[in-house]
Amino acid sequence: MSSFAQNQQDAAQYLAQFDGGVLNHIDGQQQAALDNTWFESLSPINLKPLAKVAHGKAADIDLAAQAAHRAFSTWSAMSGKQRQKILHKVADGIEARAQEIALLECIDTGQAIKFMAKAALRGAENFRFFADKAVQAQDGQSLYAAGQVNVTKRYPIGPVGVITPWNTPFMLSTWKIAPALAAGCTIVHKPAEFSPLTASLLVQIAEEAGLPKGVWNLVNGMGEDAGKTLTEHPLIKAIAFVGESRTGSLIQKQGADTLKRAHFELGGKNPVLVFADADLDKAADAAAFMIYSLNGERCTSSSRLLVEESIYDTFCAMVSDRANRIKVGHPLDPNTVIGPLIHPEHETKVLSYFEAAKADGATIAAGGNKVSELSGCYVEPTLFTQAHNKMRVAQEEIFGPVLTAIPFKDDADAIAIANDCQYGLAGYLWSQNVERCWAIADQLEAGMIWINSENSRHLPAPFGGVKASGIGRDGGDWSFEFYMETKNICFAMAGHQPPKLAK
Ligand code: NAD
Repeated sequence: MSSFAQNQQDAAQYLAQFDGGVLNHIDGQQQAALDNTWFESLSPINLKPLAKVAHGKAADIDLAAQAAHRAFSTWSAMSGKQRQKILHKVADGIEARAQEIALLECIDTGQAIKFMAKAALRGAENFRFFADKAVQAQDGQSLYAAGQVNVTKRYPIGPVGVITPWNTPFMLSTWKIAPALAAGCTIVHKPAEFSPLTASLLVQIAEEAGLPKGVWNLVNGMGEDAGKTLTEHPLIKAIAFVGESRTGSLIQKQGADTLKRAHFELGGKNPVLVFADADLDKAADAAAFMIYSLNGERCTSSSRLLVEESIYDTFCAMVSDRANRIKVGHPLDPNTVIGPLIHPEHETKVLSYFEAAKADGATIAAGGNKVSELSGCYVEPTLFTQAHNKMRVAQEEIFGPVLTAIPFKDDADAIAIANDCQYGLAGYLWSQNVERCWAIADQLEAGMIWINSENSRHLPAPFGGVKASGIGRDGGDWSFEFYMETKNICFAMAGHQPPKLAK
């Protein structure tokens, strides 16, 4: 891995390509917003302006939707094999620029290079996985019945809108866009306004790899105008959205008039349940990893630590010891684990929970402060103990390196506490008793459960949440269920006689 100084020098060089601004990309053209307005993106590291960004609005979204609509007939008519070839080339292009993507992602989002070094490669893997699936995307089933055979086939739904958040934006964009393209859909992407840099590289890489113009369009802008217009646009057939639960709810309303199909990956307040019979060292490593890596700005973070009463004090001390030894610092320093939070607005939200925890009677066992000697949005890895599940810090998604530890009495109590929450994205379970693990996993209200492990993704497995954490699943064939329509074609067998109504 390169040194801190080298990373800073390289990042500055890569950033220089945006001196003229971060542009929109419509129908193969890099372009400013139609009204030539810009907004400023801030560096989370020092709060200075990082780049000016094209401020797309309704007219830019309309232009992009028209382009995606025109390109749809060509792209959807291509064979799966042809799409497979192009998407593998996109993956090659991402790999070739992996270092550039990683460094730009760090300075744009505040995420540490320790974790972002792999972000581009994970994005490339998403493209390769769905490239290979493109070949079977249209496949269906044959369903026999007396006197008939039904044959199903899948068709890409049409141009789709992809709206992404600011946490790990590169990886998340590839996760949504690769399956859409593999399915034969065209795209209008509206990335988060706080982190626009790598989305701009991604669409350029795709076109250099041979993706036809207009298949993938990018419009930067705010949620309330560009994002809203995209969700309301009649040419856009579906919206793949990753972001906050309340935004998902707004999008559902905005899309109602055009009967938009929507896929939502939303917020989480994921419990990690630690039983006395667990391997406590591994459990503490995983609990710390899942809340303190990626700055805690991760939908699957284990933000509620539920610990069996008999080991509560011991286990909290183990996690707090780990928290106290985590390095907070500049995201380009290879030793940094926690970088700055994305934006001062978000930092203010996270810091407000330190007061809320105290007011509700929780104890701050680790952290609990802003890191004042650094000028950006840096906060300490924090652990609240002596907490109960009614506290705001136990119920609300903080989306920072902040963990709330709650004791439980027995299995039933653990399940009740875990499920007493509006969210249901993920759950983590630590116990060596397989029967208990199964019984509890079966009863947890969550879309994904990891047993004796941190979140480790397997691309063919389904990803998504229940309750306020989302609607729909990504991954494997589940992605195609969203981006495609299924048609049933029924053949009558010889000898079939329709009913005769006339005498
Ligand atoms: P956000 O909801 O504020 O914004 C997400 C995107 O939606 C941005 O591009 C924004 O401009 C756009 N947007 C905002 N208002 C809109 C509107 N009315 N119409 C259309 N688009 C609109 O979310 P955020 O703060 O950027 O991201 C953090 C959230 O994302 C957290 O809640 C996190 O849990 C969630 N998240 C979920 C997953 C998952 O897989 N479940 C993954 C990553 C992040």
